[in-house]
Amino acid sequence: MFESLSDRLTSALKDLRGKGRLTDADIDATAREIRLALLEADVALPVVREFISRIKERAKGAEVSGALNPAQQVVKIVNEELTGILGGESRPLNYAKQPPTVIMLAGLQGAGKTTLAGKLANWFKSQKHTPMLVACDLQRPGAVDQLKIVGDRANVPVFAPHPGTSVGGDGEPIGVAEPVDVANRAIAHARAKMHDVVIVDTAGRLGIDEELMAQARGIRDAVEPDETFFVLDAMVGQDAVTTAEAFRDGVGFTGVVLTKLDGDARGGAALSVRELTGTPIMFASNGEKLEDFDVFHPDRMASRILG
Ligand code: GDP
Repeated sequence: MFESLSDRLTSALKDLRGKGRLTDADIDATAREIRLALLEADVALPVVREFISRIKERAKGAEVSGALNPAQQVVKIVNEELTGILGGESRPLNYAKQPPTVIMLAGLQGAGKTTLAGKLANWFKSQKHTPMLVACDLQRPGAVDQLKIVGDRANVPVFAPHPGTSVGGDGEPIGVAEPVDVANRAIAHARAKMHDVVIVDTAGRLGIDEELMAQARGIRDAVEPDETFFVLDAMVGQDAVTTAEAFRDGVGFTGVVLTKLDGDARGGAALSVRELTGTPIMFASNGEKLEDFDVFHPDRMASRILG
């Protein structure tokens, strides 16, 4: 991801190299190139506008510093502003004062929620926590089994309804397969079994619909999550904005997790979502394996994009 954006930005900034002083016209020309590069990468227009205006303002007002030549100074400004739209500092996770910490995952079907549930569980284990997964996606046939497979792979118990008989993981019987009920029982179970982190997988649809949102709200109100992550497939282009807004208004979320950053899409969704929703990007997933996953670092991503 970001290959072509990266190339375009590098070449836009390269034109400044070797110039002793930058005129306003030099800066305007570079800003124009950067603007085109961002638009071509599918970054949302309001984000592009704001970004370009900040770059121009800062570059034109920049004092000539001893250490950096003018071109390096502009690169530094672009890097800082890119880090800024990606969120600046990474935000630490919000843990519950009284365990378990509850994390709810929301997003469209196929965004990568179930895969992410396993990755998060694996990550929490590496941080010495004792996570448990909860299957509240009772909509899609096979979703519960998929979460169980993911749980097995991460070696983490899965609390899931198994109609009429028992649950997976630590095996407490529950009968009714109703998401809110499963969620409630799961929290009680986690408390009893000393699981200090509970990750709740919820149903997604191919498109946004009110029934899905109402169900997600029901689960949210039952489990009172410490974090709700909106899971966003970075491969989707401008649609990401509408989807993010629908989830923000319909369920609300405290953080974003970007998935499929290993793909070859243009990456505009990744660059727009923080600025448009005002919500930090917490984690990034870049592959199908458990370990293809990390805490999101805006500065590292910005440096990667600038090559
Ligand atoms: P859900 O419907 O939101 O639960 O999505 P899934 O977890 O089932 O993921 C949908 C598809 O995307 C699956 O084929 C996953 O293997 C794949 N997937 C998930 N995360 C990533 C990722 O970071 N990179 C890649 N390349 N594929 C991913």
